[in-house]
Amino acid sequence: MTAELIDGKAAAAELRAEVAAEVAGLPAAPGLATVLVGDDPASHIYVSSKRKQCTQAGMRDLHRHVPGDVTQEELLGIIDGLAEDPEVTGILLQLPLPGHLDANALLARIPPEKDVDGLTERSAGRLALGKPGLVPCTPSGVMHLLDRAGVKLEGAEAVVVGRSSLVGKPQAQLLLGRNATVTTCHSRTRDLAEVTRRADVLVAAAGVPRMIGPDAVKPGAVVIDVGMHRLESGLCGDVDTEAVAEVASAITPVPGGVGPMTIAMLLRNTVLAARLLAGDAVGTGP
Ligand code: NAP
Repeated sequence: MTAELIDGKAAAAELRAEVAAEVAGLPAAPGLATVLVGDDPASHIYVSSKRKQCTQAGMRDLHRHVPGDVTQEELLGIIDGLAEDPEVTGILLQLPLPGHLDANALLARIPPEKDVDGLTERSAGRLALGKPGLVPCTPSGVMHLLDRAGVKLEGAEAVVVGRSSLVGKPQAQLLLGRNATVTTCHSRTRDLAEVTRRADVLVAAAGVPRMIGPDAVKPGAVVIDVGMHRLESGLCGDVDTEAVAEVASAITPVPGGVGPMTIAMLLRNTVLAARLLAGDAVGTGP
């Protein structure tokens, strides 16, 4: 079997066009405040892509760059200011933060209606309870890819490798919300391959380069690779794509799979947030 490639680039381009059309129909353009603290080079690259795609979709870029030696109190004041500012409809605090800052305390000050990354406790709680809210971008991007590829989730065995708050946990909740039978694996899982081989839908988000080989995949499974690693040999994910493609029925490539969807979903969340703030009854549920 040679798996069909699930094209995240094409899916993200479609979604960006849909978002731009929706923005054009709004009475006021949404305003996204990305907050970048310090000078971490990778964070700089991610934030500039987010800002660029935000303006390309017709939204306002209300970026704040804060020096790396900012105090917790000062940064809390900046977040509170953005929370109160009616021009700002979405707030994204770029993580990781310098070690002296408490990210959870800062995220807690972002109002849930402006939480376009879906990372605050209130957003996570709403997702866990199956209530509408803003959902983290990477796992919701995975759901978009599965839907676009026509993958049947109801009753399917889904296995998620990884249990982070950013990816694994919300991913498992989203799959559960679609009536898949979900198993979450982590670093203490005994015989990982034995568990992943049960999956009709396997989502790898462990952060270990090429850890999922063909022996860990059921023939005909759909494999979504969230991992992203910059090795000397080039970019790769958590899945040994070439070998697994001989076993799976469909697979996301790295690059060009889940990665492009993450920013596209951020744009979508930013529009949803603006509509929520304006009092629109929009469907944001899992
Ligand atoms: P993370 O916070 O490091 O979490 C990794 C998870 O994987 C943890 O739950 C960990 O288990 C589990 N794990 C680690 N080694 C394992 C092993 N050998 N077997 C089974 N489980 C194992 O990472 P993350 O933020 O979720 O990100 C995961 C990957 O996705 C990374 O490669 C990251 O770069 C990538 N990513 C990509 C995008 C994108 O847009 N493409 C976005 C976000 C993340 P424990 O809980 O037991 O430690």
